[in-house]
Amino acid sequence: MTLSPEQLIRPEILRLAAYHVPDATGMVKLDAMENPYRLPAEMARELGETLAGAAINRYPDPRAGELKAVLREAFAIPAGLEIMLGNGSDELIQILALALSRPGATLLGVEPSFVMYRMIAEFTGMRYVGVPLRADFSLDEAAMQAAIAEHRPALVFLAYPNNPTGNAFDRQALRRMIQATPGLVVMDEAYHAFAGGLSFLDEVERHDNLLLMRTVSKLGLAGLRLGYLVGPPRWLAELDKLRLPYNVGVLTQLAAGFALDRISALEAQAAAIVAERGRLLDALRGVPGVVAHDSLANFLLLRVADAPGVFAGLKRRGVLIKCLHGAHPLLDGCLRVTVGTPQENQAFMDAFTAELETRR
Ligand SMILES: *Cc1c(COP(=O)(O)O)cnc(C)c1O
Repeated sequence: MTLSPEQLIRPEILRLAAYHVPDATGMVKLDAMENPYRLPAEMARELGETLAGAAINRYPDPRAGELKAVLREAFAIPAGLEIMLGNGSDELIQILALALSRPGATLLGVEPSFVMYRMIAEFTGMRYVGVPLRADFSLDEAAMQAAIAEHRPALVFLAYPNNPTGNAFDRQALRRMIQATPGLVVMDEAYHAFAGGLSFLDEVERHDNLLLMRTVSKLGLAGLRLGYLVGPPRWLAELDKLRLPYNVGVLTQLAAGFALDRISALEAQAAAIVAERGRLLDALRGVPGVVAHDSLANFLLLRVADAPGVFAGLKRRGVLIKCLHGAHPLLDGCLRVTVGTPQENQAFMDAFTAELETRR
């Protein structure tokens, strides 16, 4: 007699709902914080030639030495810090949680924030504690310090700027938090390219327990799946033992190295997205009944009456965004829209205003 999946699989996994990715075929896709721009044509052609020469019959360089050198240069990573690569930063979150999931260990975050922190805590059997933000999405420092004192977290994740709220928490409060935390603090800078230079990179060497995590996904390379972790060698040497040896493939190493070697092209796209973000924010603030929050990322968070209804209406009109209503009490009535091309943003605004018009 064999046992059923229900009898064999860990109960906390059976209880989970799978991460749902909606079908976006034929839609204006503004749900996943992708950069809407392809590589410039000449660059794409050159990339094709580079990839044609790839030795895909061989396993990738397990240390990805060339790509790391390009990353170091492109993002000015100090020589005293080590780099570890992940198949997206999601994989790095998983490696961190796996490494620190001693029995009873706590992973602490804020709510609302990136859902993967909680999900991966559950995957790895860590206890998860989420400290609510204030109603204006700022960090509740007193609550955070109290939670650190009470739960003594092994691992803290903070998105800086935060997803889905788009703001960056107070730096002094974050520094005090890093100091008070007995465990490891990971600053997740997925939206660094849109945050006007805000970063903790220059502070990593000043703390024993701070790591910095970034991804190239939001910068325009989401299809490659590449994230990187930056920190003191004594931390990364331990974490690296959990990294599967060939986690970043030959094509990703080559393509990311190629693109980041020409980072000014991606930075120009990010600057265009930031300019569009301002225009979209102004346009949304001109719509009666809509609250649109400031953002340091490539998305905007809005509040409307009947967010699920507006979301469904937009979908019928061919525009896919993200409905956050119901995800957390602080997100009641919230929608998140990724900043796209001027044409995509106009298509969104047209559908959005038409949809709100039918509701008056
Ligand atoms: C999108 C996002 C990630 C995931 O990045 P990948 O490298 O694509 O896995 C990580 N953290 C935050 C805060 C994000 O918004």
